[in-house]
Amino acid sequence: GYRSRAAYKLLEIQEKDRILRPGLRVVDLGAAPGSWSQIAARLVGRGGRVVALDLLPMTPLPGVVLLQGDVREPAVLEELVTQLDGAPLDLLLSDMAPNITGLSAVDQPRSIHLVEIALELVRERLQPGGVFVVKAFQGEGFDQMLADIRQSFQRVVTRKPKSSRPQSRELYLVAKGFHP
Ligand code: SAM
Repeated sequence: GYRSRAAYKLLEIQEKDRILRPGLRVVDLGAAPGSWSQIAARLVGRGGRVVALDLLPMTPLPGVVLLQGDVREPAVLEELVTQLDGAPLDLLLSDMAPNITGLSAVDQPRSIHLVEIALELVRERLQPGGVFVVKAFQGEGFDQMLADIRQSFQRVVTRKPKSSRPQSRELYLVAKGFHP
């Protein structure tokens, strides 16, 4: 079984966009409790690599390197890069979401900031042609952030998985064809 219902969102994206395949090097940001990493490890197989990061501790997962820390801290990102042995990434997944306060003036900038940090990692470490899948929340700052992502990728689509609550502003951006 999967550790979280979030699994079904990634499976829907995988069905449409075919982002995971054998041999890929993948980073999973905001990975706890671990269902996306479970799927990623299975689909990249032994020839691939999955490094998972979260603020929260995670129970060990076969085939996945686990890191605990805050992606907003440069030392944590450095550790992540070290775990990749300096090799570029094929796919960056981010299902990160801030702790929701209910105040959109607080939550929205925090969520955009998490996307921006993931995008920085993309620009530093993603292989040309690579893929970026990121959770985002529609609202203030969204259009600007989307335009920013479009600048670095050949095509970007938005996905609202059926398993994502319809009333939530959450959606996923699937960006393919990274060009540094
Ligand atoms: N994709 C996961 C799965 O399939 O199990 C579920 C991810 S959950 C929706 C979002 C996660 O983002 C939480 O576990 C949270 O701790 C993590 N997160 C939020 N802010 C973070 C940060 N600054 N650094 C690292 N992880 C963060």
